[in-house]
Amino acid sequence: MKMCTSASQGIFFQCTKCGKCCSNSSEGFIFIFWEDIKKISSQLNLSYKEFAKKYLTITKYNFPIWDENLEELTAHKAMETLALDFGVDQNCIFLIENGDFKGCKVYKNRPKQCKLYPFWSIVMTSERNFRYHEKFCPGINPKNSAVPFFHPETIEKLIKIERKIEHNYYLQMKKNDFDLFRMYPFLQNLSKFRINK
Ligand code: SF4
Ligand code: SF4
Repeated sequence: MKMCTSASQGIFFQCTKCGKCCSNSSEGFIFIFWEDIKKISSQLNLSYKEFAKKYLTITKYNFPIWDENLEELTAHKAMETLALDFGVDQNCIFLIENGDFKGCKVYKNRPKQCKLYPFWSIVMTSERNFRYHEKFCPGINPKNSAVPFFHPETIEKLIKIERKIEHNYYLQMKKNDFDLFRMYPFLQNLSKFRINK
């Protein structure tokens, strides 16, 4: 796997819980996959349908398609997907703010995409993107280096977890003729989504 120069030397990282990546939806979406839906809806004691109605939206993203070894990008495929519905204040609906304290209401079951940040393929394989996120996220390469060091091998494993999720999503969508409503039947008859389609 070809990582960018900065990541290929390993990085220091520890989340400072600043909440920046949980705010300002203009930075992107937090995708929600089957495993996330099951865990979070169970924690909140909601049916899939109730969970979707309250917290999810549909978006479209040009997903990368990886080879079987999750090494090489073979193509892109635009697919609809579920994402967290950020509120009007542009913050994640699960973000808890109390003075300086910022936390996540579903922390132990937070979406895989949140758990893996900043070790996303798009960040770790592009020097330009890495530099952007290094400035954005105070947890990456902080001045104080007494924080955990992530060796290149560890970063590669984390990137592969993300790629595996994307790979599986592609296969699941393909099996369902790329129809999100077939993939997630509980979305059917939810006016919130029918109007958006
Ligand atoms: S931006 Fe970085 S330091 Fe801040 S909450 Fe997100 S991962 Fe943690
Ligand atoms: S689910 Fe939690 S960790 Fe993920 S963006 Fe929302 S508040 Fe942040």
